[in-house]
Amino acid sequence: MRFDIITIFPEFFSSFFGHGVVKRAITNQLIDIKVHDLRNFTHDRHRTVDDRPYGGGEGMVLKPEPIMEAVESLGIAPKNDRDFARESVILLSAQGVKFTQSVARALSTLDRVVTICGRYEGVDERVNDLACDRELSIGDYVLSGGELGAAVIVDATMRLLPGVLGNEASSAFESFGHPDEHFAENSDVTPRSTHGAGGLLDYPHYTRPAEFRGLAVPDVLAGGNHDQIRRWRRERALEKTLRNRPDLLEESELSSEDRLFLQRLKTRA
Ligand code: SAM
Repeated sequence: MRFDIITIFPEFFSSFFGHGVVKRAITNQLIDIKVHDLRNFTHDRHRTVDDRPYGGGEGMVLKPEPIMEAVESLGIAPKNDRDFARESVILLSAQGVKFTQSVARALSTLDRVVTICGRYEGVDERVNDLACDRELSIGDYVLSGGELGAAVIVDATMRLLPGVLGNEASSAFESFGHPDEHFAENSDVTPRSTHGAGGLLDYPHYTRPAEFRGLAVPDVLAGGNHDQIRRWRRERALEKTLRNRPDLLEESELSSEDRLFLQRLKTRA
């Protein structure tokens, strides 16, 4: 899969590419990431990328000409002819649709993703109209630029690609993940690292030492009873989701056992 990032701060990404899973995915040629300096698509002495806003007001706006030239230099199909099942041009924007794990899943099926990083007051809206098929926000807050958003999108998307994570189950069975049908049908199989979050948050994880500063690892995890471990993990995932992200429960896949457990938690509170 190929990612192209259009930015006025290309050096921002060098540390991001140089570490961990992203670095390994690049080295193993599972992904290709190209960063494009927007100023290379300007034609004046000062390499101007911004201008004052029409209608007055604060700050500056990124001009449309260099961004359109940058997008067109990438050999990606014009918006009207674009195969949206293969390619996407994304504008990073606080006004965008919220980027979630399910958007990451959709992007991970594409061959190519282009991200346009805004700065200042944002990007001339005609870039959105002419070139972009998605406008994405990484959360309900305003950042000073789209670079962090582009890094978030590349990271969350590329780790869903086959072969990127050492253990395929790591991305399938974690927070916001699909349910683990395999485990539900075969409760005597060895527990995987998670048990199908099914839209819930992940359960808490522990490693050695067995006791740390007076806090012991829950007995059930050392007991080796896989069915009990599965139930314990599921209940902790339900508990954590109810506590931190009750909104997720609306869309989660819940068994009658899950619903009963949640009911008990709510009446106890
Ligand atoms: N005037 C804009 C508004 O109020 O929505 C904010 C512009 S912001 C200072 C500059 C750039 O940062 C935006 O063009 C966008 O590319 C990026 N940005 C800011 N917040 C973002 C968010 N939540 N998600 C993605 N990108 C964001």
